[in-house]
Amino acid sequence: MAILIKTAAEIEKMRRSGEALSQVHEAVRPLVVVGASTMDLEDAAAAKMESLHAVSAFKGYHGFPAVLCTSVNSEVVHGIPSPKRILADGDIVSVDCGVIVDGFYSDCAVTYAVGTPSPVTRKLLDVTRASLEEAIRQALPGGRLGDISAAVQEMCEAEGFGVVREFVGHGIGRSMHEDPQVPNFGPRGKGPRLKAGMVLAIEPMINAGAPGVKVLPDGWTTITLDGSVSAHFEHTVAITKDGPQVLTR
Ligand code: MG
Ligand code: MG
Repeated sequence: MAILIKTAAEIEKMRRSGEALSQVHEAVRPLVVVGASTMDLEDAAAAKMESLHAVSAFKGYHGFPAVLCTSVNSEVVHGIPSPKRILADGDIVSVDCGVIVDGFYSDCAVTYAVGTPSPVTRKLLDVTRASLEEAIRQALPGGRLGDISAAVQEMCEAEGFGVVREFVGHGIGRSMHEDPQVPNFGPRGKGPRLKAGMVLAIEPMINAGAPGVKVLPDGWTTITLDGSVSAHFEHTVAITKDGPQVLTR
């Protein structure tokens, strides 16, 4: 499928979707504390969405049961919130959320430290977050999709971290997943030419250890094969003639 180009008016609608999603994340963030359950985060997100008249992009998607993916420690992505999953000092939790406002999707993930993280965990979070920012700086008209991918891979592998291969970012708009796929690995200067009006969900998923992952029998929760912790940051980014615009900041 061709990569869909959004008009300025469509990008404005996506910005409103992204602003609502930012508010959902802001409602969740203060609840990420020692002793909270991942269901506490889910409940806060669901309530905030309702107050904003934002529809969950996740709940019911291929049967996913929640508005958030909450992925703790060695869980990479797609963890399911649970009242039994209690956050402890030194844990990390990735909170991934998507909403639909006025027909347009936005998608954003943040990984939080709970209490005091270990030095390795702190570094993983810092490097993964920085790799997303560097990737966003590559989202320029005239560039190549591979410039985004390579920015993540180079920064994270230089620190000895593993770049997940099985899951990638994506185009986004009137659907959550549009073309192109946005891998976090691959060579610079290759892939589709970037154009103003493309909107991409860029989302490094980075393991402290090896890159391998597997899906648990629940069909969703994805964990690292080596048990190392994993971080995930994501923004929905519009490519414009004035440069990249993060719609979910
Ligand atoms: Mg996401
Ligand atoms: Mg995504």
